[in-house]
Amino acid sequence: MKQTDQKIMCPDCGTEIKGENTSAVGDILECQECGTEVEVLSLSPLKYQILVEEK
Ligand SMILES: [Zn+2]
Repeated sequence: MKQTDQKIMCPDCGTEIKGENTSAVGDILECQECGTEVEVLSLSPLKYQILVEEK
C-alpha cells in the first residue's frame, strides 16, 4: 500500500486538518473545528502529536 496523500486527523474531534500546502516537520496546524493545535513530528511516515499548551 502506498499512500502519498497522508492526512492529519485531529486527535480531539477527528476532523481532517488541512495544511496550507505541504506540511513540514515542526509545523503547527490548527484544527478548524475545535482549535486543537497539532505539531508535525515526521513526514514519512506521517507522525504528529497534539500540542498541549500549558498555562
Ligand atoms: Zn478538532
